[in-house]
Amino acid sequence: MRGSLLRTIEHVIGGTRRTSERTLPVHDPATGAETARVAAATAADVDDAVAAAGKAFVEWSEISLARRSAVMFAMRDLVDRHADELARLVTAEHGKTLEDARGEVTRGREVIDYACGIPSLLKGAYTDQASTGVDAWTFRQPLGVCAGITPFNFPVMVPLWMHPLAIATGNTFVLKPSERDPSASDLIASLYADAGLPDGVFNVVHGDKVAVDALLDHPDVAAVSFVGSTPVARYVHQRAGAAGKRVQALGGAKNHAVVLPDADLDDAARQITGAAYGSAGQRCMAISAVVAVGAAADPLVERLAAHARAIVVGPGADPASQMGPVVTAAARDRILSLVDASDADLVVDGRDLATGEGFFIGPCLFDHVGTDMPVYQEEIFGPVLVVLRVATLDEAIELLNANPYGNGAAIFTDSGAAARRFQRAVRAGMVGVNVPIPVPMAYHSFGGWKDSLFGDTHVHGPEGVAFYTRAKAVTSRWPGPAVDAAPSMHFPTA
Ligand code: NAD
Repeated sequence: MRGSLLRTIEHVIGGTRRTSERTLPVHDPATGAETARVAAATAADVDDAVAAAGKAFVEWSEISLARRSAVMFAMRDLVDRHADELARLVTAEHGKTLEDARGEVTRGREVIDYACGIPSLLKGAYTDQASTGVDAWTFRQPLGVCAGITPFNFPVMVPLWMHPLAIATGNTFVLKPSERDPSASDLIASLYADAGLPDGVFNVVHGDKVAVDALLDHPDVAAVSFVGSTPVARYVHQRAGAAGKRVQALGGAKNHAVVLPDADLDDAARQITGAAYGSAGQRCMAISAVVAVGAAADPLVERLAAHARAIVVGPGADPASQMGPVVTAAARDRILSLVDASDADLVVDGRDLATGEGFFIGPCLFDHVGTDMPVYQEEIFGPVLVVLRVATLDEAIELLNANPYGNGAAIFTDSGAAARRFQRAVRAGMVGVNVPIPVPMAYHSFGGWKDSLFGDTHVHGPEGVAFYTRAKAVTSRWPGPAVDAAPSMHFPTA
């Protein structure tokens, strides 16, 4: 079909939908067909969105906590009621299975649940009689216009890590979702309007680097939350930081699972299979490297291979499918070229599924992988799992800590002492013990270490509240009749 005949996914600016002259293609990864166009914002479109958000901030930042909380409760119900519709949009443009997409909607909605409690979360601290007749307290205020720039792999959940807390804390928001799967953000904007959020508090600008750069440079954007690949995260952190903004930029990952010989290997293999190949390996917390310790290796690889071969690959909308396609033809071709170029031991070869119009590739499993190999060093972001073999837990920890990424890390073991040693020594932001994808609940904070996060604050949970607010400390004295008329010239102490 010609691009001009397709539906265009538009920006939502100040409650009004509009497009731009330039548009970009959106595909159904299961068929390879172009299914829509998405508007690509110019710097002028971004100016308009930031202006709308700036105007809305004047009133929204003064709205009571009770009212903000009420909007979040309404939004929570609406997201729940539209969960299936949201999941279908995700599957149609991302490719993941419907069940997986429903899971992402639930995990994203949990951040709205947390934001419903904003009156408790913003309670300040009060000190009575800090000095004689002097009280002191701290409270937190919103920043202004906040921007969110998000990746393709969780088009509902990752934006939800950001905007519910930004908005509940009194900010206004401009979201630049991934251009690959933009439709879910359009529905989220409609749901916010239905929840009673005033126009201009939540805006969506679509597009690519042009829109991102305009947000990073805009003098009226106070803070930027970014989630995406490491090179872009590093760039966003530097550019927005240079423009004086508060920045949290979450990057890529290579998440390892260490398996000790004392682990329940049947359970470990099942868990790792889901974590490696679910969503076709396109999760920031996917397990992409297994470090098998000692005698765990042979029986583990045997089990992983059996599971990988049994995975049903097909369109995400087909209930029989356990794994869908990857997001674009370019992603599939990049994954294929990495697999083609590797001389490690390819135990399961999924390349024969990479034919036809859809962007499919079957599960691949490599054994005897070395740390110098590109299949280990690169974030493949596809259904490719590599197994490295080491002799001891210490060697495994050393291997993980030498990796530049530090998002998630997991250990499978029956030994509490080994797990405790691992969780304390490993340099990663999120650790799983017999849990392969340790994504923290919404009331904790999510974030990696090393090249997986640039900036100081993790997203959602208490750190999310802190990121979108700044503290003010007030010291207050209401003097009675003066007892000492002379001015005091020394530095005040209690
Ligand atoms: P990406 O970095 O290509 O894109 C992310 C966002 O940045 C998109 O909105 C995109 O339009 C924009 N962008 C892309 N290139 C840009 C450029 N040169 N200049 C300015 N903006 C640019 O990432 P992706 O492919 O959409 O998502 C996959 C990546 O995201 C993986 O690396 C994955 O690990 C990472 N990710 C990390 C986390 C985490 O929590 N750390 C979560 C989800 C995804």
